[in-house]
Amino acid sequence: MEAVLPRMRRTATKGKTVKRELEDKLKEDFPTIFCDMHDSTPIQSCMYCGIEAADGWYDLIHDLCEKIMALDPPEGFKADQVKEKFGGLRFYYSHGTKEIGKLVGEAETESYKTCETCGSTENVTCEGRPYWVRSLCESCDAQS
Ligand SMILES: [Zn+2]
Repeated sequence: MEAVLPRMRRTATKGKTVKRELEDKLKEDFPTIFCDMHDSTPIQSCMYCGIEAADGWYDLIHDLCEKIMALDPPEGFKADQVKEKFGGLRFYYSHGTKEIGKLVGEAETESYKTCETCGSTENVTCEGRPYWVRSLCESCDAQS
């Protein structure tokens, strides 16, 4: 059983996406940014799959979108893919600007300090875990 466990854990983690209700809220608040979410085909946009990260980053993503909208982004600006990679947030987009790129970079940096499970920013690390790099706080790490 012990030999099987790590593989199961990896699969369970890899399939994690932000809950549909949270995705719907993002789409409702930022209809232009998330115009492709759930409404495209996998060939048209990776947003077809929704947001491929865990719920703990919802606020981070929501804050980022608020800041982007405050900049009055160019026509056609939208998210192409939002996911977790190597323990950090990745936010890919089209028709951005230098300022938007800066905000996205800041959010991506912030994600390494934000627990992807509960959103806590205390005692978060993304190192030393086998098979799958994740940013987790101490207590979520103990439970995973
Ligand atoms: Zn946590």
